[in-house]
Amino acid sequence: MPSSLHPTEAVAHLPLCPDCGADSIRIRLSIEVDIEVVVDELVDDLQVVDESLGDAAWDSQSPAECPQCHWHGTVGDLHQRVLTGARRG
Ligand SMILES: [Zn+2]
Repeated sequence: MPSSLHPTEAVAHLPLCPDCGADSIRIRLSIEVDIEVVVDELVDDLQVVDESLGDAAWDSQSPAECPQCHWHGTVGDLHQRVLTGARRG
């Protein structure tokens, strides 16, 4: 899986929208977040002391939307030069 390209760099150069050719597309990703919590007795609540984000990647089934013409579809419907995945960091 490609890991060196940042998603925003990729969409900046390609006509991605299959409808209007806009070069800006929203892609919705889901990531996992691991958090560590401790009981904070002062406020009688849990306090997050550590958190880490999981890898984020999109695939052909990820929801995509064009902010210009409001086209809705999936990454698989976009221009075929769209990256097949991206990771944080
Ligand atoms: Zn569009």
